[in-house]
Amino acid sequence: LSSHRPAAHPSRELLSAYASGWIAWSAGLCVRVHLDACSECRDAVATLEAAEEPFIDQLPEAPLPEDAVSALLVKLQSTPVETREPKAVGDVQLPGAMAHVRVASRRWIAPGFWVAHLPEGRQEGWRTYILRAPPGARLPMHGHGGPELVCVLSGAFRDRRRYGPGDFVEMPGGSDHSLVIDSQGPCACLIASKGAIQWKGAAKLLKSALSV
Ligand SMILES: [Zn+2]
Repeated sequence: LSSHRPAAHPSRELLSAYASGWIAWSAGLCVRVHLDACSECRDAVATLEAAEEPFIDQLPEAPLPEDAVSALLVKLQSTPVETREPKAVGDVQLPGAMAHVRVASRRWIAPGFWVAHLPEGRQEGWRTYILRAPPGARLPMHGHGGPELVCVLSGAFRDRRRYGPGDFVEMPGGSDHSLVIDSQGPCACLIASKGAIQWKGAAKLLKSALSV
């Protein structure tokens, strides 16, 4: 990530979920990538973590929810695992937070326009992928069956506002938007989405590439 200071941040709820570890792997990775670029949110998470410990200790014992295992994996990410993970995919440099993440082969939608899935991010209905698009490219209007989180790795895009490197976007389930790449060079994002994406219009190529 560049030295650009992020202007769009994860919500307080999401940072709390991250700090407590009760967060899906995909969502946790998006937050981690943002934290790499944002000292403000790193401080917020440190404060939340410190506040969380005595609180968690006092909770009554309860059965483990389904998300808990992947939540644990988020916490364990700092432990190095076998590394055949790339430092870059094509011309997209991956941030340190993604150093130990496996990335599947790219699938092209159009020249310079591709997605690469993160196999570990396919848990509990989530899908996680890097999307790289050339300047001026448009993603047509689409809706989200579930939440979608986006962290910009490089370049910029615009929907209702402009998002640059490190910026974080949370789209709630049921929302829709269209967007355009709004940087001189390409734009790459890490995207985690839960539930089906509903394409509105003839976006069959995107549909088939993203549904892997
Ligand atoms: Zn932030």
